[in-house]
Amino acid sequence: MTHVESIVIGGGIGGLQAAHTFAKLGLAPLLLEARGTCGGLVFGAPIGGVWVDLGAESFAKRSRAVASLCAELGLEVVDPSGVSWLWSHRDGGFATRIPHGVLGIPTDLDDPFVTALLSPDGLARAREDLTMGAEPGADAADLATLVECRLGAEVLTRLVDPIAGGVHSAHPSTLAVDVVSPGLREAMVREGSLVRAAAALRAAAPAGAVVSSVSGGLFTLPRALVARIRELGGEVANRRVVTAIARAGGAWSVTHHEAGRAADPADPPVPVGDPVTVTTGRLVVALDGRAALDLLRTIPELAVDDWELPRGADLTQVCLVMNAPELDAGPRGSGLLVTPDAEGAATRVACKALTHYSIKWPATVAGTGTHVLRVSFGRAGIPTGDPTPAGALADASILLGVELSADQIAGHAIVRFPNSLPPQTPAHRARIALLTRRLTEMPGLAVTGAWFAGTGLAAVIPHAQSVARGLAAPASAPDQERSR
Ligand SMILES: Cc1cc2nc3c(=O)[nH]c(=O)nc-3n(C[C@H](O)[C@H](O)[C@H](O)COP(=O)(O)OP(=O)(O)OC[C@H]3O[C@@H](n4cnc5c(N)ncnc54)[C@H](O)[C@@H]3O)c2cc1C
Repeated sequence: MTHVESIVIGGGIGGLQAAHTFAKLGLAPLLLEARGTCGGLVFGAPIGGVWVDLGAESFAKRSRAVASLCAELGLEVVDPSGVSWLWSHRDGGFATRIPHGVLGIPTDLDDPFVTALLSPDGLARAREDLTMGAEPGADAADLATLVECRLGAEVLTRLVDPIAGGVHSAHPSTLAVDVVSPGLREAMVREGSLVRAAAALRAAAPAGAVVSSVSGGLFTLPRALVARIRELGGEVANRRVVTAIARAGGAWSVTHHEAGRAADPADPPVPVGDPVTVTTGRLVVALDGRAALDLLRTIPELAVDDWELPRGADLTQVCLVMNAPELDAGPRGSGLLVTPDAEGAATRVACKALTHYSIKWPATVAGTGTHVLRVSFGRAGIPTGDPTPAGALADASILLGVELSADQIAGHAIVRFPNSLPPQTPAHRARIALLTRRLTEMPGLAVTGAWFAGTGLAAVIPHAQSVARGLAAPASAPDQERSR
């Protein structure tokens, strides 16, 4: 049995960051990743001759950790072009600019893009927020309760549900306010208004765009991390499925197998071949929630036996690469989020969002007449159906206001993310807090990843850095004791 200084299980962005932190601290990590490439939900592929992000494509700038990491790796950070739009199914269907705000909470109720979306009564109700004082909603745990209490039902359904729901693929009633918008409730109590709190948060954020990406595509970030981990003496082992972890004296043992192909490519690889066991004093579990809980269940002291993750949405993304110079002007800027109220609408759009990727990140195909559209389907709790390129094209034509035809498609990809992005519900966060306390009694073991730290790179990367640094500290590493 081999003993190594540190092990990271899972080569998504969380695992890569944890391994990178260990490597920089001279604790040569072994990273075990089930798939043939690292990056997890951050990945890309060439479609119709153009390299495109097919999973995450940007990161929120609210944490400076991601931009600092890019700088450290020599990657150029780029801001998006074009403004974002919202498609409303009301009044026969119309597109309007997304108002300045935080997850759909406007920063100014006189903004014409807000008044275009609300009825006079809805606007009057929203204005009550400005004078109702700090108390109402101060103890709301979920985003929907907070917004409805302060600004009324219309702001919730017409703004916050499509925008926050689009970003998190979950209904606002399932999103813990303090996780999806850290500091918002405190700002509301301070400002005595949710609208003023949203304005204060936006004013405190770095100037310019709310998100950024990496020149050449976000998928280049995991590649750069893998290269740097190897340069620093770490080992990145792909096609290795971890099947068990256990306490081994003062250390941790990790059992892994060669990865075999699952029947459905959307499912994780399956273990084949003989087990290999390796031990370490510093172990980071950086898997998606379900896989992580499967491993953690085998440690009785963590008591996670009865823990069912909240169900995520069944997402499908149809990426279309089009020969369409008529889209050069970017009729809807960087893209649109779609309100969920399609029922009974005259013009019905099935997708939940469209990203005009080649306008948002113009360096990809600028000036070639080629355009990349990412059309996303699937809302929490609603069956996705079986989206096709033809269906995506029909939605794109309506949303962009430009008639597009199938013979303009140069290439396409359909990517499914079943039961994806478990919502950060208040109950889930309470379980995470409990597990965090129990982990403090497990020297040498830490957990990271979006299910644990919060969705998105801005939450995952600083968390992964911090847990790896925590394990590197002498008091938390059992084999430091042994070697003394
Ligand atoms: C369609 C989509 C779009 C998104 N867009 C954005 C965006 O624009 N910006 C943003 O910030 N976030 C976005 N997100 C969310 C973001 O991608 C995730 O929060 C983040 O990438 C999660 O990283 P992770 O390391 O926690 O998990 P994952 O990326 O899920 O990585 C987990 C890794 O563990 C591996 N693994 C699983 N089981 C085993 C095992 N037994 N043994 C070994 N390895 C195993 C998996 O193969 C995987 O590589 C998006 C998500 C989706 C689905």
